[in-house]
Amino acid sequence: MATHTDPVCGMQVDERTAAGRSEHEGQTYYFCSAGCKEKFDQDPTGYARQSGEGQSSAA
Ligand SMILES: [Zn+2]
Repeated sequence: MATHTDPVCGMQVDERTAAGRSEHEGQTYYFCSAGCKEKFDQDPTGYARQSGEGQSSAA
């Protein structure tokens, strides 16, 4: 069982019950609702940066 942080609203989302998921730069993101997925898809870079999950900046 694995939970992930919804990068849009910050909720913990179980990958089995997630309403949606998106991949961005090799990471998979899970969402509590279709609305959160939609927001993420419109600006994946902005939301992925906020989550900071397993990401380390190489810059
Ligand atoms: Zn959400």
